[in-house]
Amino acid sequence: MYIWLGLADSVTCRYPSLLRVCELWHSHFNWYRRRRGKEERGCGVSKNNTPAAQEKCITRLILYHFGVNLPVMLLSYPVFRSMGMRSSLPLPSWNVILTQIIFYFILEDFVFYWGHRVLHTKWLYKHVHSVHHEYATPFGLTSEYAHPAEILFLGFATIVGPAITGPHLITLWLWMVLRVLETVEAHCGYHFPWSPSNFLPLYGGADFHDYHHRLLYTKSGNYSSTFTYMDWIFGTDQGYRKLKALKSAGVEDNSKHL
Ligand SMILES: [Zn+2]
Ligand SMILES: [Zn+2]
Repeated sequence: MYIWLGLADSVTCRYPSLLRVCELWHSHFNWYRRRRGKEERGCGVSKNNTPAAQEKCITRLILYHFGVNLPVMLLSYPVFRSMGMRSSLPLPSWNVILTQIIFYFILEDFVFYWGHRVLHTKWLYKHVHSVHHEYATPFGLTSEYAHPAEILFLGFATIVGPAITGPHLITLWLWMVLRVLETVEAHCGYHFPWSPSNFLPLYGGADFHDYHHRLLYTKSGNYSSTFTYMDWIFGTDQGYRKLKALKSAGVEDNSKHL
């Protein structure tokens, strides 16, 4: 039954594909279109999403899913089992599922924040994390586009919660699906009306993470994966909040001088 995790992974990978279709038809969906392109953003980053760059992303993702993600899934199975994960009936109650998944989101965000900050140190950024930052204007598929070492390093943030709590397989499956949907939405490049950031005050979303991709590594900020409070507590969202203030004051064009 563990193989259902693989199926979950495949299903959630359809979401970025769907978003790419939306992008291709963006002229018909201007109601949710957001600005894209380095010229519009004034970010000074000489990178954009050429067809060749998008093909490279897709090819690498297929390679990494089979060469990195799949072995990790297979090797982690005995670990989860030894920590108490079960796949038999009865299913856990919704209270248990919800509590565990909220805990996973909070723990993942905390671990990811510090891991991500470490990846933004000079050597690690140059040799590892710069791969993920090849796309200054990310799209859904780039959410999983990273150096294999980073996939393993930050992947730890995703599995540490389940590893220490030994959830039911259905909870683990649901957590993985929600986690992938969350990161795809953060990278999709659109602020959808149904984005959780419209309903949850501390939720980051696409606008929050887009800011992280638009600046050079020393000025990135916005290191959290899901929520905004870690960056607020440690002062790594100051540039983003200044930009938001300028936008709301109607002087968006001055953002290039930040
Ligand atoms: Zn980064
Ligand atoms: Zn990213």
